[in-house]
Amino acid sequence: MGLKTADEYRASLNDGRVIFWGGEKITDITSHPRFRVPIEVACSDYDYANPELGELITYETEDGSKAHRVYQVPRTVEELELRLKLGCQMSIVGGVTGVYMALLQIKDRLAAVNPRFAENIENMYRYARDNDLRAAEVITDAKGDRSKKAHEQIDPDLYVRIVKETPEGIIVRGAKLHITAAALVHELVVMPTKSMRENEADYAVAFSIPVNTPGVKIINRSFAPAELNSFDYPASSHHSMPEGFVIFDDVLVPWDRVFLAGEWQLAGAFAGALGLWERTLGLAMASQDANIMVGLAHLVTEQQGKDRDPHVQDTIAELICYAETIRMGLDYAVRHFEATDGGMLHPNTLGINVTKYYYASNFHQMVRHLHDVAGGLTITLPEEADLLNEETGPYLRKYLAVREDTDVEQRMRVFSLIRDMTADAFGGWHLVTALQAGGGLKAQRIMMSRTFDMGDARNAALSAAGALKQD
Ligand SMILES: Cc1cc2nc3c(=O)[nH]c(=O)nc-3n(C[C@H](O)[C@H](O)[C@H](O)COP(=O)(O)OP(=O)(O)OC[C@H]3O[C@@H](n4cnc5c(N)ncnc54)[C@H](O)[C@@H]3O)c2cc1C
Repeated sequence: MGLKTADEYRASLNDGRVIFWGGEKITDITSHPRFRVPIEVACSDYDYANPELGELITYETEDGSKAHRVYQVPRTVEELELRLKLGCQMSIVGGVTGVYMALLQIKDRLAAVNPRFAENIENMYRYARDNDLRAAEVITDAKGDRSKKAHEQIDPDLYVRIVKETPEGIIVRGAKLHITAAALVHELVVMPTKSMRENEADYAVAFSIPVNTPGVKIINRSFAPAELNSFDYPASSHHSMPEGFVIFDDVLVPWDRVFLAGEWQLAGAFAGALGLWERTLGLAMASQDANIMVGLAHLVTEQQGKDRDPHVQDTIAELICYAETIRMGLDYAVRHFEATDGGMLHPNTLGINVTKYYYASNFHQMVRHLHDVAGGLTITLPEEADLLNEETGPYLRKYLAVREDTDVEQRMRVFSLIRDMTADAFGGWHLVTALQAGGGLKAQRIMMSRTFDMGDARNAALSAAGALKQD
């Protein structure tokens, strides 16, 4: 019980979990080179002794103990704002542990249908919080043929489903794909990926189980090789995190770990709540990245003496507009929060979905702007080792100079970050992730249509047309 140290976290991962990477079965991830960077990233969230982080990453629970702030249920705007700040500070492993907010958000609705399952959510939340656990958001199914429902697929296991109920619990089978940090957490929090109909009731299933539960297997993949130097790969060398292809091979989930088992009417509510919190976290990080992109555009053009060029200034203005719109969208969503009956606050659903849509649908254009002003060195710049090499270093210093005072090393670092963030390991991942993580554009379009006040807009239009009938 209580806060863990980084060492305790590391040791807790050596629990017999079944992990694969690149065709290899890894028995102890804590000593395997593939996991060195990802585990270090996850350990940073356990750095409670760090005075710069301590205040932000902990809070006092209702019983007076200390817990990681990712478990704090927001009840004021200030607490929502702190959550966003935390989202920028935390590793993605801490970030996805925010999955408990989605569970708590729908707990009251679930209680009306199945009080026992709602109690399981509350118990699970407290257990995870009080033991300082990390959890993954395990939502996206394999899905097979997208034009067919879950029960119409060629293989009934293409969406995770209940294959049997026993006195001990439910037996589940299926696979969940792309699961961020699945191999590095303690709990897999599983939910339906979409709404389900009555004839898909076996697929309306949500639960939480430890990663080392018999029958769970995780195949990993990351955008970055095991080790990269931080000069040439300033982003990838520190952010590398595997996504997991998680298999549930007839896994027994005890009844006290079940949140949904056939209540198909609520499947969509789980998916919706998770989407909201996942998009909020994604936007907190996106806002930070967009700000960095503005800074990079300014630095790279200044270093080349073209920062006064009108085309460059226009381009940088586009980037500023992008970064500020995301920041303002987030700010709006927090200030116009919504609340559950139990008093838990969550960001404005329409505001988050509009902002996520804006961020994702414009991201590639912003990368294009940055590439446009930066030039070809973005991908052809020699490496740090060439700068350090006695024979080649002087040539780099000579030919990468722009003015008397050019700091060639700084110039190289700026280009390296542009490449790494937008055109290489982390960058390649980012191009797809901006669109898909937290749900593709279609998911936000659906949520925008559902939550926009269409009645008000129609009345405004009718009124403007002089056609509004008064009752
Ligand atoms: C880096 C990364 C990390 C992720 N992390 C997680 C995670 O931690 N947990 C998790 O659960 N998921 C995670 N995801 C998964 C993410 O939520 C999905 O990738 C996303 O929801 C899209 O689903 P999909 O990949 O199955 O693609 P698809 O469902 O195939 O969607 C791709 C496109 O096809 C469209 N489409 C889908 N169905 C139809 C249809 N019937 N007709 C027409 N068009 C359709 C969609 O709108 C979309 O534009 C992650 C994804 C990435 C890339």
